[in-house]
Amino acid sequence: MKIRKTIPALTSKKLFQEADNHCSFCSVNDVAALEIHHLDEDPGNNQLGNLIVACANCHAKITHGEISPADVHTKKLQLTWMSQAAKRPTPKRPRQSVEVKDSTLNNSIVANKVTFTGKRSQRMNYPADSVGADTIKKGYIDYLIGRYFDYKKADASYGSYRPFNHAEIHTTIARLFKAKTFYIHVARFAELCGYIMSRVDQTIQGKRNTSRGWPNYDSYTKYQAEQLGQHPPPASPGTM
Ligand SMILES: [Zn+2]
Repeated sequence: MKIRKTIPALTSKKLFQEADNHCSFCSVNDVAALEIHHLDEDPGNNQLGNLIVACANCHAKITHGEISPADVHTKKLQLTWMSQAAKRPTPKRPRQSVEVKDSTLNNSIVANKVTFTGKRSQRMNYPADSVGADTIKKGYIDYLIGRYFDYKKADASYGSYRPFNHAEIHTTIARLFKAKTFYIHVARFAELCGYIMSRVDQTIQGKRNTSRGWPNYDSYTKYQAEQLGQHPPPASPGTM
């Protein structure tokens, strides 16, 4: 039996600031229509990281699973990250707004147009026949690893508070495959995908989704078709 506790005024103030007084999943900004959702569905857990602002409509979608827990956690992470970024003192250089949302764009063309002023060059030459040399295969590996990171972060809200090491999966891949992630031979692409997928599936969030029949990631076929603009990307609930 979970006991509902009143959300402290300071917590809800911070939460509405974080959400910029908008629903986190749509454009509703009528403060009277906004509600607060508990990510772990425990109405007694009023930690800031467990709460997200949603309009009544989107809140119902979360409750009915139309907006998945993974979507909710990803959105919460984005909001947290953005509000932290906003608080950071004077950035050294303007943030680069490189958003490749249009999946019909050809990745390689986009990559060539982008010039980064950061220390590290985004452009890397991977050997021919490596996974990294194939734009779409590399993109899919990036996508899977991104899913893994998102799910590990989501796991934190289920009580897994162990510090998360982003390099670990690459180190483990290097040990298992005897090559760095994007230098692995393209012949082992499916094997590499399978390994990263198994890591996603083993997260708490991954197991929860599986038990509810929700996929943890798109298939390579679907990803590839989207990258090549062969069909429109599916409408995702709570479009960002
Ligand atoms: Zn909404």
